[in-house]
Amino acid sequence: MGGLGLGRMAREVRDGLAPVVDFIYPPRCPVCGDAVMDQNGLCSHCWSMLDTPGEPCCAACQIPLDAGDERTRCLACVSRPPVHEGIAAATLYSNISRQIVLSLKHGRRIALAAMMARLMATRLPQDDVALLVPVPLHRWRLWKRGFNQAALIARELSMLGKGELLVDGLVRYRQTPSLGGLSASQRREKLAGAIRAKQGAVDQIAGRNIVLVDDVLTSGATSGECVRVLKAAGAREVRIACFARVANEARSAA
Ligand SMILES: [Zn+2]
Ligand SMILES: [Zn+2]
Repeated sequence: MGGLGLGRMAREVRDGLAPVVDFIYPPRCPVCGDAVMDQNGLCSHCWSMLDTPGEPCCAACQIPLDAGDERTRCLACVSRPPVHEGIAAATLYSNISRQIVLSLKHGRRIALAAMMARLMATRLPQDDVALLVPVPLHRWRLWKRGFNQAALIARELSMLGKGELLVDGLVRYRQTPSLGGLSASQRREKLAGAIRAKQGAVDQIAGRNIVLVDDVLTSGATSGECVRVLKAAGAREVRIACFARVANEARSAA
């Protein structure tokens, strides 16, 4: 399953360290710190505060709309049709989802990936022939963090029957500076060539339906670049699955 050793590392952390952590520290809600039943859950109060995208929404990018039916598209998608075939977001970005993402990424609460994947899975069809491809991290960042949170989530999704995992289908060749404050075209310029399909993975990507997996979808610039690379490698359809989506920013970019 790829040369990054992510799967094995994650398994070691999840199966090896998590029970010890459970034993030493009682499980806490990653958002408010209240005691919870296990390491991968939220307390009931924080659960109720999660903001989930509802209807009506744009038929192309699933951004919430004030009104419309299942064929209504938002203005951004009408003026510039997206390169992807849809976005499945488990939650809208809020303080709560932000805390969950930070606890996974920087607090090393690896077990949270399972909970995040379960919420994302409800937005995805059961599909064991789809290919699950995580948004790649640059190897420096991977080395510092020790894991790619998107890969952990993608692996959990594959265990939930949402597709086959291709953990290193995409490779990030360049670190990109923060893309905040840039226009959509400036973002694309900064990202050009930074992400490529891994040599040898093109055969697996060609002709397949892909689910691109990420933890947070902000401007859509990085995921858009991934979609373009996957399509150039011959992917038939690419849908984006994320845990938390920044609604306003994604509206202007994707
Ligand atoms: Zn809580
Ligand atoms: Zn839209």
